[in-house]
Amino acid sequence: MTKRINNFSAGPAILPVEVLEEARENMLSLGDTGIGIMEHSHRGKAFIAVLEEVEANCRKLANISDDYSILFLQGGASSQFFMIPMNFLQPDQTADYLVTGVWAKKAIEQAQRYGKTHTAASSKDRNFCYIPKTATYSDNPAYVHFTSNNTIYGTQWGTEPEVPAGSTLICDASSDIFCRPIDVSKYDLIYAGAQKNLGPSGVTLVIMKKELIERGNKEIPEMLQYRTHAENDSCYNTPPTFGIYIMGLVFKWILNQGGLKGVGEANQEKANVLYRFLEQSKLFKSTADVDSRSLMNIPFVTGNEELDKAFISAATKAGFDGLKGHRSVGGMRASIYNAFPKSGVEELVRFMSDFEAKQA
Ligand code: PMP
Repeated sequence: MTKRINNFSAGPAILPVEVLEEARENMLSLGDTGIGIMEHSHRGKAFIAVLEEVEANCRKLANISDDYSILFLQGGASSQFFMIPMNFLQPDQTADYLVTGVWAKKAIEQAQRYGKTHTAASSKDRNFCYIPKTATYSDNPAYVHFTSNNTIYGTQWGTEPEVPAGSTLICDASSDIFCRPIDVSKYDLIYAGAQKNLGPSGVTLVIMKKELIERGNKEIPEMLQYRTHAENDSCYNTPPTFGIYIMGLVFKWILNQGGLKGVGEANQEKANVLYRFLEQSKLFKSTADVDSRSLMNIPFVTGNEELDKAFISAATKAGFDGLKGHRSVGGMRASIYNAFPKSGVEELVRFMSDFEAKQA
C-alpha cells in the first residue's frame, strides 16, 4: 500500500482513495474494452457511455432539472471570468459583482473589457475576511456574479446573496461546489474548476439554464459560445476525457456518502474540529469573521511570521502538507475539501496542540 500523507492543498487537492483506486483499475482497460480510459476516442461508444453517466449522476446529486445544461469545458474557472461577459454583457449594459476576494476581483476585471461593471458589495476594507451583509445593485444589471467560497481568505456565503427579483445569478463555486445541499434552481449559471472538490485540473463544470444559453452573443468565436458546447454535448472539440471520467467517479463517491446532505454534515463536523480548537487556542487564531467562516478553507495565524514559518516547517516534516497560507494573506491555511477525512483534521489539531504546548 502506497503511503499517503495529510494533504491540505488548496487545489489541485486530495481525491477520495476509492476514486483513485477505481481509476487505476481502468487505466489499462476501461471495463473489458481492452483500451484504457485515457485512450478511448471521445466519439466512441465507451466514452459516450461514461459521459452520459457522469451527467446523469451530476443531475441526481444536485437535483438538476432539464431546464439546465451540464457542460464540461476547459481553460479553468479563469476562462469563465471572460466567457461570461463575452456572452452576456453588451457595451451599454452593466454587470454587478460581489467582490469578496482576489478571484472575484479577477472576474470583475475581465468583465470590464466588455461592458460596464458595478461593485454591488465588497469586503476589501478588511482584506476580504468577511462576507458583506448588504449590497447595492445597479438598475437592471445584465447579471449578478458572486464567488460562493473565497479560497484564499476562508470565507463562504452561508446562502445565496439576495438579489433583485428576476436577476440573472451567476456563481463561481470553484472551491465549494457540492460541499453541501444546493438549490440549483436559484441560479442561472454555476461554474467550478474541478481541481478542488470534483477531480483533477483541466476540466470546468458549468451548470447553466438553457434559456441563458440562448441569450449568448453569437458574434464571438464558436469555442467561446456556450451554445456550441451545449449543442454538441461538450464534444464540439476533444473534451478533457480523463478529467470528466474522474469527476464521474467523484459524483458516485458523493452519492455513496449520502449525497450532498451526507457530505454537508461531514464537512460541518470536520470544520468544527478545527474551528473549536482555534477558538480556545492561545497561540493560533482564525482570520475570518465567525459568521463568514468557510467549511472548505480554514486560514489561521500565530500573529508572528517567524513562528508561522516554524510551524509550517515542523508540520511539513510531520506529514501535514500544503498548510502554507496564500501569499496574499500569509500564515497557514488548511483546505479540507469533501475528500479530506475527519481523522486528518483531528491529527492536525493534536499536532497544533503539541506545538502550542512546546511554545508555552
Ligand atoms: N475561482 C476560485 C474561487 C478559485 O479558488 C480559483 C483557483 N484557486 C479560481 C477561480 C481559478 O481557477 P482556475 O485555476 O481553474 O482558473
